[in-house]
Amino acid sequence: NLTDKLGSALRNLRGTGKLTEENMTEALKEVRQALLSADVHFKVARQFVTEVKEQCVGQEVLKSVTPGQQVVKIIHDELVKLLGEGTTELEDKRPLRIMMVGLHGSGKTTSSGKLARYLAKKRDYRPALVACDVYRPAAIDQLEMLAKNESCTFYGDREEKDVVKIGKRGLDAAKEADANLVIFDTAGRLQVDEHLIEEIKRLKKAVQPDEILLVADAALGQEAVNVAKHFHEAVDCTGIILTKLDGDARGGAALSMKSISNVPIKFMGTGEKPDEFDIFHPDRMASRILGMGDVVSLVEKAQDTIDEKEAERMAEKMRKADFNLEDFLQQMQQVKKMGSLNSIMGMMPGMSGVEIGDAEEKKMARTEAIIRSMTPQERQTPRLLRGSRVKRIADGSGVQVRDVNALLKQFGQMQKMMKMMRGGKKGRKMMKAMQ
Ligand code: GDP
Ligand code: MG
Repeated sequence: NLTDKLGSALRNLRGTGKLTEENMTEALKEVRQALLSADVHFKVARQFVTEVKEQCVGQEVLKSVTPGQQVVKIIHDELVKLLGEGTTELEDKRPLRIMMVGLHGSGKTTSSGKLARYLAKKRDYRPALVACDVYRPAAIDQLEMLAKNESCTFYGDREEKDVVKIGKRGLDAAKEADANLVIFDTAGRLQVDEHLIEEIKRLKKAVQPDEILLVADAALGQEAVNVAKHFHEAVDCTGIILTKLDGDARGGAALSMKSISNVPIKFMGTGEKPDEFDIFHPDRMASRILGMGDVVSLVEKAQDTIDEKEAERMAEKMRKADFNLEDFLQQMQQVKKMGSLNSIMGMMPGMSGVEIGDAEEKKMARTEAIIRSMTPQERQTPRLLRGSRVKRIADGSGVQVRDVNALLKQFGQMQKMMKMMRGGKKGRKMMKAMQ
């Protein structure tokens, strides 16, 4: 996933001071690659990377634990901006007329029902559904069933083949029933064709919709972009409903569609059930495209709590293998400030299922207690810790002597490792493997 790839590409940036055009090149190549594999249109990916570069260049690299993620955050914010641009609200009119367009199977009929339900519930509309699919009687039955389930007005005519007549009579029927929201469900084709386009143009002219929503299947990927362009050119869509986001669609199509057609994504379908539908959340989509758990909020949290200078000092100490128990204690404090280990793990990509037991949290608390029972001198020079001192510390922190020894041994190993990392190629390799 993108975060992993970025991790390796950005590792080299660690501690290089500022992000520059040169040191970003490799990283941005990865970003572009990741966007492409998330199904983002190549033109969009190219432009996006250029913009991110402009944002990044000149920024200080955080020398804390998350320098690579800093760039992910910039990318994320940029994605949210791009995805969320434009108004995602429907026209606030009563009566409101909405025409649904899109390819066959994209979810127009299902979404008509979902939208009626949503607007009735959240905006107090009284919806009417009008079946303008004149090719498939089953589609009319499907819409009628949905209307029944949502207790809203329905108009359809299985004998009539002219969508204009159906549309106009649908408007009359809605008025008659005192509905103030009319949703026109239309037919689709497997591909955009001229006949279909002509038909929706005629219907548009006849019923004068306030909103024309393009229903697009997120799984369609690049193809969805061409479709969006086509429909938009023909009828000026006012919004997109992106469906089937519950599947494994990578979400890149959303970004491409939005930036090529510049039509805002207004709603998203997340399942077959009537209430698996919501207004579009750009932030969720950005996370999905980046394939990261909740890295962004993790970074934000880290930025809030980890003192930059302090982190820098630590990193320097580690490099010089001059890291003592006092530093160890301070690092633990930093981690603790970020919240429980579990909540931190929950935000890491691929780690959300990993449970940190109470045992781990207890162990940390115990380690802390042990170090706190040491004198400052002992913390700075752990090799002083022998015999009676160890006993005193064990008593002071309410643990066994062997617990103190275990901690000292662990710390000793850490120091050894830092020394190894300091020297030579092998050490640097290890450092990389650990990051
Ligand atoms: P239409 O031809 O554009 O009217 O498409 P339909 O509304 O008939 O939907 C086609 C299929 O996609 C149906 O089986 C729907 O249940 C399914 N569908 C629609 N929206 C979603 C969605 O958001 N998630 C999932 N999983 N299925 C959906
Ligand atoms: Mg349909």
